[in-house]
Amino acid sequence: MTRCNLGTARRTPVNALILLFLLISSNAAQGQNVRDAALFVAGGALGLGAHEGGHLIFNGIFGAAPGLRKVTFGPIPFFAITHEPVSPVREFAISSAGFGMQHASSEWILSRRPHLRQEEAPLLKGILAFNVLASAAYSGAAFATTGPDERDTRGTAITARVREPWIGAAILVPAALDAARYYKPDVVWLRWASRAAKVGGVLLIVRAKT
Ligand SMILES: [Zn+2]
Repeated sequence: MTRCNLGTARRTPVNALILLFLLISSNAAQGQNVRDAALFVAGGALGLGAHEGGHLIFNGIFGAAPGLRKVTFGPIPFFAITHEPVSPVREFAISSAGFGMQHASSEWILSRRPHLRQEEAPLLKGILAFNVLASAAYSGAAFATTGPDERDTRGTAITARVREPWIGAAILVPAALDAARYYKPDVVWLRWASRAAKVGGVLLIVRAKT
């Protein structure tokens, strides 16, 4: 089995900044009471938890002994989830698991509650907002190929043997389609284009060497 010597840490400054953005903007964005704003932010935190949980689940499945390490992003301290070196196909699964959780939870929400926009459901809206914003932020880093070496898009691109901007596109397209579904829930092709894009992203794993 070839060993994949990618960096072993996963950092979350992008996610934390998005949460901060949600915290600041939620009141204005929702234009509603404090309880709804709090639920909206809690939804964002759940989205972040699901993203990181996705990495941890695959660490656990592959026995890649996860650990925590303290890192900093400017003055702000964070924890990084670390893991031991694994094969490229496993690294692909671990690196892309955060995006997988984002896309799967957005799909679950929009399939069950297609008219979410008209509903009073700040928690679900917070999860969806986090998912779309995190995908946009990560794809921006991927298009620019900047950020820490351990960033998810880089690990996914190297193991799938594609250039990183393609991973950026693979993340951004379903997120953009999901955002469009939120505003245009009755447009059927948006639904299926989003699902096809998500499946296509997962299928990139066949390019990773075992
Ligand atoms: Zn991640």
